[in-house]
Amino acid sequence: MAEATETEHPDTPPGAAVRALLHESDDIKCRPPSGGRRGEPSVTIDLGIPATPPRPLATRRKTRQIMVGNVPVGGDAPVSVQSMTTTRTSDINATLQQIAELTASGCQIVRVAVPTNEDADALPIIARKSQIPVIADIHFQPKYVFAAIDAGCAAVRVNPGNIKKFDDKVAEIAKAASEAGTPIRIGVNAGSLDKRLLAKYGKATPEALVESALWECSLFEEHGFRDIKISVKHNDPVVMVNAYRLLSQACDYPLHLGVTEAGPAFQGTIKSSVAFGALLSEGIGDTIRVSLSAPPAEEVKVGAQILESLGLRERGLEIVSCPSCGRAQVDVYTLAEEVTAGLEGLEVPLRVAVMGCVVNGPGEAREADLGVASGNGKGQIFVKGEVIKTVPESKIVETLIEEAMRIAEEMGEAGVEGEPSVSVAS
Ligand code: SF4
Repeated sequence: MAEATETEHPDTPPGAAVRALLHESDDIKCRPPSGGRRGEPSVTIDLGIPATPPRPLATRRKTRQIMVGNVPVGGDAPVSVQSMTTTRTSDINATLQQIAELTASGCQIVRVAVPTNEDADALPIIARKSQIPVIADIHFQPKYVFAAIDAGCAAVRVNPGNIKKFDDKVAEIAKAASEAGTPIRIGVNAGSLDKRLLAKYGKATPEALVESALWECSLFEEHGFRDIKISVKHNDPVVMVNAYRLLSQACDYPLHLGVTEAGPAFQGTIKSSVAFGALLSEGIGDTIRVSLSAPPAEEVKVGAQILESLGLRERGLEIVSCPSCGRAQVDVYTLAEEVTAGLEGLEVPLRVAVMGCVVNGPGEAREADLGVASGNGKGQIFVKGEVIKTVPESKIVETLIEEAMRIAEEMGEAGVEGEPSVSVAS
């Protein structure tokens, strides 16, 4: 490993500095910039990374706005990310602890399952102590809907296909929810579709899911209750996307997007990303829940990343790392992992580029707030397009982290000195 050579190059074009670093200016085989010639002392490759996040792909579909606690859903409100606890709701401490972890991950709304009396009994404390709005998830017993409303839950999710005699209780539920200002999510799932609709359609088609949802909405509407959001989930992204498209044309209720039973983290992330991406790019969707067979904080991270990728949420920390190739002069995978781990918890909109060589690296790194282009056992550190120093390979990670922290502090953001901390009020 070469000795550390820290060189200030505030006025040096990145390309020239890179050549100096490599001592191999004639060997650079990158695509030259338009009009450029081999041998010119600059590498000005624009790979199209925009300086600012792109605008959303489509105008949001106009929906009614409801309030889930203090989080607006629908209308012009930002698309929110929600998740669901995996603890027994009756275990109040464990549930609040997990809610705290979810909150720290960026979760904005949390749902808790209420299958038993003990779970219903825990709702008042959980609703009061949670840092984010709590939705009670009720599947079988209408009496728990009333318990959740009385407990001060921010909303109640009901599954019309599962709640026995639900239709008979709609008037009472609408009255109680209306008086408490508690919205209802009509949550239709392919796996528990009303038997009447299964008989009519043969299976959980998009039309069947939408008909079920709109039927239940109509029951509430008969009682003047419209404080509703809807989900029509299916495990097949194609069916799910078509269901939401149909639904968005049929009503103006805010829509909760979800691919149900999406699977383990890898498969579920892809399914949800594809389905949410298709819908959100058409302006459909007001709140999202990624369902993964994985810890719920992972769902939140994926959901937030989907929104950031579509320009629907301000980008936080973003690692732009190259895929590596035969030109790489550093272990890009390890470098990117170490930088990502070192910057975890940094809550600032910072784009950090980790590039494996000086061919395309400088061009991409220059578009980032901070970056490194590696080569010849060294790393050229860029800040806002300027080479600020050259460090040996062994110092690349710590230098990037130091610079990221310095930039974050300059941005004046709180909580940049480590993991975000969230405490559970006792
Ligand atoms: Fe691009 Fe990375 Fe290959 Fe360099 S090593 S050419 S930056 S993919």
